[in-house]
Amino acid sequence: MRRWNGWGDDSFSMEAPGSGLAFLRSVVTPGTVLPDADLSSVCEQVPASRLPEHPLIVTVAEDRVRHARGQSLPDWLAMRSGDFGIFPDGVAYPESTEQVQELMALAYEKDFEVIPYGGGTSVVGHINPLASERGVLTIDMGRMNRLVSLNEESQIATFGAGTPGPQVEAQLRAKGYTLGHFPQSWELATVGGWVASRSSGQQSLRYGRIEQMFAGGTLVSPRGNLVVPTIPATSAGLDIREVLLGSEGRMGIITEVQMRVTPIATQEQFFVVFLPSFEEAKSAVRSIVQERIPLSMLRVSNALETETQLKLAGHEKQIGLLESYLSLRGVKEGKCMVTFGVTGNKQQNKTSLKQSKKIFKSLGGVSGPKMMGEKWAENRFKFPYLRENLWLEGYVVDTFETATDWDNVSELMNTMEESVRNSLQDESVKPHVYTHLSHMYAQGCSIYTTYIFPNAESYGATLERWKKIKAAACGTLATGRSTISHQHGVGKDHAPYLEAEKGALGMGAIKSLLSFFDPKQKLNPGTLVDEKIDVK
Ligand SMILES: Cc1cc2nc3c(=O)[nH]c(=O)nc-3n(C[C@H](O)[C@H](O)[C@H](O)COP(=O)(O)OP(=O)(O)OC[C@H]3O[C@@H](n4cnc5c(N)ncnc54)[C@H](O)[C@@H]3O)c2cc1C
Repeated sequence: MRRWNGWGDDSFSMEAPGSGLAFLRSVVTPGTVLPDADLSSVCEQVPASRLPEHPLIVTVAEDRVRHARGQSLPDWLAMRSGDFGIFPDGVAYPESTEQVQELMALAYEKDFEVIPYGGGTSVVGHINPLASERGVLTIDMGRMNRLVSLNEESQIATFGAGTPGPQVEAQLRAKGYTLGHFPQSWELATVGGWVASRSSGQQSLRYGRIEQMFAGGTLVSPRGNLVVPTIPATSAGLDIREVLLGSEGRMGIITEVQMRVTPIATQEQFFVVFLPSFEEAKSAVRSIVQERIPLSMLRVSNALETETQLKLAGHEKQIGLLESYLSLRGVKEGKCMVTFGVTGNKQQNKTSLKQSKKIFKSLGGVSGPKMMGEKWAENRFKFPYLRENLWLEGYVVDTFETATDWDNVSELMNTMEESVRNSLQDESVKPHVYTHLSHMYAQGCSIYTTYIFPNAESYGATLERWKKIKAAACGTLATGRSTISHQHGVGKDHAPYLEAEKGALGMGAIKSLLSFFDPKQKLNPGTLVDEKIDVK
């Protein structure tokens, strides 16, 4: 069953090996192990619902608890402490576009707010209800989870918007196709949530971001239904399809999506190569993408991430042997691990591998054991479970991410890391911070930073630590030729920083659009735009 206060399926857990924990303790002193609340005591806090009685609306306390929070660090602290603050007044589980229309009409008639909910995997507060004088209904799209049709000639699949990653792939694979969208949250996140929050998957190099996959769909808005037809490309003015992408549930509820799919490749392999330094690793991957060598994934772990990953992998003896071998080949301290993949037919893969290995070699790269690439693929969706176990050791783990042009990557990465490292100086606490580059483009790439810090002596004090780190990180991004988010979206946590990126006119245009579709501002208030919209 899905954990009510953490990540994923409660029948699975991932332990950090002893050597990994010993390494962590050497770089960050563990914090207080804080007590967990239990589900029944949280359910007792849930107040009476303010929603009208309706056959589609469930007001049971546990449903409301399970939909009150996403997966951000503040959400995590709220769920573990039991201090949720605000709960939705009810949850609906529609099974058709017509039922969503019925709920939307009821929201306008009876004056309550609506939060569209996909998999609830948001890490930036997208789906959290805010304090409101009106009732709040969360609409969980999880029952609209089927492959409705597949047009093999045009390679377009129609899905219910609430279909989660594993069901998207299982239903497509049965017919010989893949969507190829694999965010780390794939187990729980849904296709509608991906579109609404502009998601990016681990193999974006081959399949593109969700923007490239989304061909069209249906949005149920308070103004009526907007149907975006599937057209391969258009020069007919502004693109309405683009408007749905990143709308974050503020314009309406996406009920059906048409996605561009790809026949399953005959061969897929992942590898690891070590480069002597970050600059050489960065040069190698930049050359690969700028020469348009068709790899399916590429990731550069900086030196600290490489060290941390190798320690957390366990297998001390084998890693020791690997490091001795790399050292003999000139890849020593400061080394950076590059993980890469090929997906295609055998001949294509052979050519891409040959071309990229030549580039890695020219920059001093030494291949790691084949098993390391295979292990990456095997564990690619399991890492979030580690957060659970590190929490039980007194550690808090969180991430933030951005994207920038190649000429700014190193400087921005260093500034981002330093801003986090120094953010808790007043408490003499130094988070452990490391980064990887992923989602490569000819122009630049995404920068994804992880930080681990010790729990403070209470939940409230740990949240204060996170707020200082978040403000430092977002402050850096808002002034750094970068975006406030490459893949996690805006939600509520990033909304105050959006204007720095879009400018006043850009924000005006966004607000006009939102208030056109939702004139009474009942849809997901506070997400994307954090103030009441006052459009004349
Ligand atoms: C461990 C972990 C790893 C992650 N890794 C990645 C990653 O690799 N790449 C990445 O892109 N993201 C990642 N994320 C972030 C998150 O998974 C994405 O933002 C994802 O797209 C959210 O999808 P969801 O279905 O869970 O949407 P939700 O979290 O339920 O909702 C997100 C937003 O979309 C809106 N929404 C959802 N469904 C609809 C709908 N049908 N119609 C209208 N609006 C809707 C909601 O109102 C909300 O504003 C990760 C999160 C976690 C916890």
